[in-house]
Amino acid sequence: MFHTLQVLAAHPELNNITALQLFCAFSLIFCLKRDITIPQPLSEAPECPPTFLPPAIAEFLAESLSISLDLMKDLWEIVREEAWVESQKDKPGKDDEECFRWKRELSTIHGLIIDSSITLYPLEGVCTNADCIKRGKTLKKTKFCEVVYTLAMGACRAYSAHLFCPDTLSNHGYHHNFSVCDGVQTYYGGMPKYLQVGEHQFVNDSCKKVWKRVGG
Ligand SMILES: [Zn+2]
Repeated sequence: MFHTLQVLAAHPELNNITALQLFCAFSLIFCLKRDITIPQPLSEAPECPPTFLPPAIAEFLAESLSISLDLMKDLWEIVREEAWVESQKDKPGKDDEECFRWKRELSTIHGLIIDSSITLYPLEGVCTNADCIKRGKTLKKTKFCEVVYTLAMGACRAYSAHLFCPDTLSNHGYHHNFSVCDGVQTYYGGMPKYLQVGEHQFVNDSCKKVWKRVGG
């Protein structure tokens, strides 16, 4: 972080960026990580920050931080490595959710649905169906509004991203807890961080543990 601050201090316009703006940038990047990686070309390694932000995300971040789009490009170049490492944290917290609540008025611009810090993604970013001609190709995305019950933040608005194969003749896709092929749902192994308990309702892992204790 020290090196990042040094580079920012040497920038002719970003040298006066506030700690609050920087915190907000890291928080938004953390919560939008999958939204940032999914539209990237396959040549970009998903574990590394991409060279360029998707245009709609760059515009949203610039407006959220009250800086120009050109400055946002410079800021991304400076903080992307640090922000990608920071985004290894477990899950969004109260501060992240607050950050999104402040930016709720911007949520519908550029066609983005990003007024919640929680978006539930499948593990996959590309089609993994062994029989599919589009195997390894980037999936198409739709988002649905959900409710996530948490201990720290209570009931939260959230979104789930459903990813579908780009092969229009196929009928398979990927959800947070399971994949579906020709109407057959196959649940992923292990316990997901967010467990679906109703049509559009999920509980997070800490809430799940308490419910399990109460239930005996
Ligand atoms: Zn496919």
